[in-house]
Amino acid sequence: MIRGLILGALVVVGALATAIGAAKQGPVAPAAASAAAIQAEKIRENLYVLRGGGRIYQIGGVSVPQAGTTAAFITATGVVLVDTKLPGWGQPIIDKLKEITVKPVTMVINSHTHVDHVGGNLEFPGTVEIVAHENTATLMKEMRAVSGGPTQPNLFKDTNGRGLPTRTFKDRLTLGTGNDRVDLYYFGRAHTSGDAWVVFPALRVLHAGDAFGGKGVPPLDVNNGASGIEYPETIAKALAGLPPIDTVITGHYHTTLTMADLRTYGEFVREFVREVQAARKAGRTIDDFVKGWTIPERFVKEGYASTEHLRSIRPDVEVIWNETK
Ligand SMILES: [Zn+2]
Repeated sequence: MIRGLILGALVVVGALATAIGAAKQGPVAPAAASAAAIQAEKIRENLYVLRGGGRIYQIGGVSVPQAGTTAAFITATGVVLVDTKLPGWGQPIIDKLKEITVKPVTMVINSHTHVDHVGGNLEFPGTVEIVAHENTATLMKEMRAVSGGPTQPNLFKDTNGRGLPTRTFKDRLTLGTGNDRVDLYYFGRAHTSGDAWVVFPALRVLHAGDAFGGKGVPPLDVNNGASGIEYPETIAKALAGLPPIDTVITGHYHTTLTMADLRTYGEFVREFVREVQAARKAGRTIDDFVKGWTIPERFVKEGYASTEHLRSIRPDVEVIWNETK
């Protein structure tokens, strides 16, 4: 696949599967999960980005993007993780961390309810605190199908609460103190209705989850509370409400990015939403819009990739279309 083409992978799968009809699809074999398949990038003395964690599905000969980006924050008392990748990848994360620190994982923060971000939760000891936005905690009890995409395994159905958040927040939550502090923010609906923005204030680093998954049309998982119309407002609130940040970890992009990139992404989403709404108001059809839309040149220059060969934007257009009065 094109480097830099980053999509919320789950939605990609569904759209592509639909597009190619009966092509075989299925999760990558669990045997592929190993610490060796995880790449650790040290972005601060005590903060690592763990990439890899399994392609979500193979369809035809095409691998869709990798599981969600994990962050590992090494505090005085233990490791705080953001996101746990796909089922089967919790233990490989633990194994990989042994190359980095002797400290155990003490806390997991889940950015949102998708299986490539919460899938490894059950592989951590029951003593590990799990933190998420209150809407994500509710959604994780069901693991609803991704709209326009596949079903999700109902991982936490019969676990007596194991793997589910033990602590939730509504607007803001501070965890830890001093250099070990982590601040969680919620700015409203975007990719789902429970997207947490995770800030390491002493390091001036943000993990944005799939609210900023990468440079492309944002997958709108309306089954799990997404909103196209509110999305740009949510990003605007994040830009206004977050403290100074130098480095942004995204849900799926292959490098870290900056707040300037988040600002550009907000403009991209706003423009996309506006164009869909304009098409609807002009009496065009969804098919007509999908066929005719291309990424505006200024965003192509920023690395926004054409997605048509991998994923239809149709499900996302439909969400905005239906939200438009
Ligand atoms: Zn997602």
